[in-house]
Amino acid sequence: MKMFQYVVISSKGKPEEIWVCEHCRKKHAGQSFDGNWRLIDKCISDQMECAMCHAGQAGITEQADGN
Ligand SMILES: [Zn+2]
Repeated sequence: MKMFQYVVISSKGKPEEIWVCEHCRKKHAGQSFDGNWRLIDKCISDQMECAMCHAGQAGITEQADGN
């Protein structure tokens, strides 16, 4: 599985490095990719977890409600 490493800007404005799979990469292409997502690395691995597929834990796509 191809994995892509991006620097994304979190909801708090802090840059975070995440790995996403090719599926999620395509899914988000054209949206956040322009400004917020910057590709910094890629590799092929079967052992890495995609941050977007595991969005429930990563909390990158979800805005914290409340606060
Ligand atoms: Zn994914």
